[in-house]
Amino acid sequence: MANKKLIVIGGGAAGFFCAVNAARMNPELEIFILEKSNKLLSKVGVSGGGRCNVTHACYDIQEIIKKYPRGGSFVKKAFHQFFTTDTINWFEERGVKLKTEKDGRMFPVTDSSQTIINCLLSEAQQYGVKILMKTEVKTIVKEDDWFKLELSNGELLTSDFICIASGGYPKTSMFEWLTKLGHSVEEPVPSLFTFNLCRTYLSIPLLN
Ligand SMILES: Cc1cc2nc3c(=O)[nH]c(=O)nc-3n(C[C@H](O)[C@H](O)[C@H](O)COP(=O)(O)OP(=O)(O)OC[C@H]3O[C@@H](n4cnc5c(N)ncnc54)[C@H](O)[C@@H]3O)c2cc1C
Repeated sequence: MANKKLIVIGGGAAGFFCAVNAARMNPELEIFILEKSNKLLSKVGVSGGGRCNVTHACYDIQEIIKKYPRGGSFVKKAFHQFFTTDTINWFEERGVKLKTEKDGRMFPVTDSSQTIINCLLSEAQQYGVKILMKTEVKTIVKEDDWFKLELSNGELLTSDFICIASGGYPKTSMFEWLTKLGHSVEEPVPSLFTFNLCRTYLSIPLLN
């Protein structure tokens, strides 16, 4: 009998973390990551100013949820499954040591987000996660006990399980392919973004 398949939509931090853990825990599962762009883990690269603020040295769930004004109760459940110590241990078991700064932020000792990217990529390779780049999912149709995915190039894929880790979109309309599945989506609000600044020199003529 053919192995069951999991398709993870999105090659960012969430997609990779889901794919590599699912692969390690379910060796019989065939796992694909579909990424619409030609880059993997690009936001991890810029996170924490290029150093990747992996987690925060707070070990109390009641305390940390106060820092999530829009979703404290939502993240609480997730933190009961996987919290700060789990994150520290997960990376340490894979050779990535974290350090704590005075304000509690935790970074890899290398001070480079590339360390985190390399860790996730090598984990994916070790567990045979297949990665398809420039592969955008346009629609998902739920059949009885499987899913049909239509890609932007018209190709059709089928999967037993899917994980949607497509990150955020700036407009509500961009979530339509997911609301069609019956999911509700919170109105997006701007949060973190990068500024590219360049210095401009003005030449002002001197007047007598
Ligand atoms: C400047 C900046 C600094 C940050 N610093 C930190 C930090 O220090 N620490 C921290 O924890 N967080 C930080 N963050 C936030 C963190 O980077 C994000 O929360 C995290 O990377 C989001 O990961 P994700 O996998 O959910 O989404 P994303 O990284 O957005 O990944 C989603 C992926 O899905 C792909 N995709 C979307 N739609 C489709 C589709 N239909 N088909 C196929 N692929 C699709 C996208 O191309 C993308 O690659 C920072 C963010 C920014 C912008």
